[in-house]
Amino acid sequence: MPRVLLLIPTTSYKATDFIAAAEKLNIDLVVASDQRQTLEDVFPDRMLTLDFLDRKASVNRVIAFAKAYPLDAVVATDEEAVTLAAIISSALGLSHNPIESVQATQNKYQLRQMLTQAQVPTPKADLFSITDVPESIALRMTYPVVLKPIHLSASCGVIRANNPNEFQAAFDRIKKILADREVLHRGKEAAQTILVESFIPGVEVALEGLLQNGTLSTLAIFDKPDPLDGPFFEETLYVTPSRLPETTQKAIQQTTQKACHAIGLRDGPIHAELRINEHGPFVIEVAARSIGGICSRTLRFGLGISLEEMVLQHALKIPIASLQRQNMASGVMMIPIPKAGVLVDVQGIGAAKGIAGIEGVVIMIRRKQKVVPLPEGRRYLGFIFAKGERPEEVEQALRLAHEKLRFEITSSN
Ligand code: ADP
Ligand code: CA
Repeated sequence: MPRVLLLIPTTSYKATDFIAAAEKLNIDLVVASDQRQTLEDVFPDRMLTLDFLDRKASVNRVIAFAKAYPLDAVVATDEEAVTLAAIISSALGLSHNPIESVQATQNKYQLRQMLTQAQVPTPKADLFSITDVPESIALRMTYPVVLKPIHLSASCGVIRANNPNEFQAAFDRIKKILADREVLHRGKEAAQTILVESFIPGVEVALEGLLQNGTLSTLAIFDKPDPLDGPFFEETLYVTPSRLPETTQKAIQQTTQKACHAIGLRDGPIHAELRINEHGPFVIEVAARSIGGICSRTLRFGLGISLEEMVLQHALKIPIASLQRQNMASGVMMIPIPKAGVLVDVQGIGAAKGIAGIEGVVIMIRRKQKVVPLPEGRRYLGFIFAKGERPEEVEQALRLAHEKLRFEITSSN
C-alpha cells in the first residue's frame, strides 16, 4: 500500500474528505498536524505533530519518520502547509513543485510581481510598511484601491477604499488585524506590510485545476453570482458550470495556464480566482492547493471520484480515470456571517434541506462559539450544497435554502 503524508492544519475543514478518499483508494495516510493529536502514541505510524512554521525541525522529524515508514508522497491540504510540503518532498527526493513557486503563491506581492513580469493581467500593486504614514500615501493613490495583508486567506483583511479617508481607515483596520496574536503567528515579517492594489471591476470566477507536468486541466469554473465589489469581499455563492460565454471561459483557462507557468507551478491542484471585464480576465490569485473549506464536495469526476481522491492519485502518480466533472450543475453557498457575536442557535435547517435541489446544510461554528464577520473574521459559518439540471436552478435553490435559515446571534460580552 502506498503511504502519503498529509499536512493538515488543525484549523482545516478538509480532514474528513481526505481520510475518506484515502480509504477508498487503499492508501496509508499519515496525518501530520500542527497540534498534538490525542491518539498519536497509540498510532505512531499514522500521526505526527509538526510545527509548520519551524520548517527545519519539521523536515528532520519527517526524515526520521520516513526511515521507519517510507513515504511515497506529501500533500498539503491547506494554504498554511503548501511550502512545507514542497520542502519535505524535496528532502525526501519526491517530486514536487519548485519551492520558490509555491512560496510565491503565499505572498500576494511576490505573486503580483511575477505575474506582471510575465505580462499576465493582474492588479497593479505597491507594498507599504505598517509604519508608513497612511495620510500621505492616501493622497498619491488612484482610486478605487484594495488594501490587504500579503499572507492571509479567505478575504481576511481585504478592504476596498474609494478615497483617501477610506484608505486611512482601511490601513488602520488592517494594522489591527495584523497585530492579532494568531495572525502574527502565521508570519511576523509578512505582518509588517500592507499591499495596495488597483481595484479591478468586473465579475469574478474561481477555477479549479490540476497541473500535470506543467499542463493545466480545468476541472471546473465556478461563477460567483453575488457581486464582489467591497468594501469587504465575503465569498458566498459558487456555481458551476459557468454561465459565461465559451470564449470567455477559454480566455480564463488560458490566462490561468499562463499564470501557473509564470509562477513556475507544475504539479498538483490549483485554485485560481480571476475577475473579468471588457479588458479580459485578470488574475487575482493562484493558490497551490484545492478549493477552500469543504467546497470540493460540489465536485465529482468520472464515475464519482472526489477532488481529494484525484489529488491523492495525482500525488502518487496513479493514473486518473477521468478529469471530466459529472454533468449536473452544482454549487455551494458559504453562509454569510450576519453579524458579530456569539452563536446561540440556528433554526430552519430542516426547511432549508427540504428545498428541491439542496444536498446538504453544514453548520461549522458550534453553538456558544464566536462568529466574526469580515474583514476580521477567519472562519466559515457553514455551507449549503445544491445540485440541479442548470446553474440557474442551483443558484435559486441555494438562495431559497439560505432564506430559510435563522441565525440567533447575541452581541458578545
Ligand atoms: P484572499 O487570499 O484572502 O482570498 P484575495 O486577494 O484573493 O485574498 O482577495 C479576496 C477577494 O477580494 C477576491 O476574491 C476579490 O473578490 C476581492 N479582491 C481582492 N483584490 C482585488 C482587486 N485588486 N480588485 C478587485 N477585487 C479584489
Ligand atoms: Ca482569494
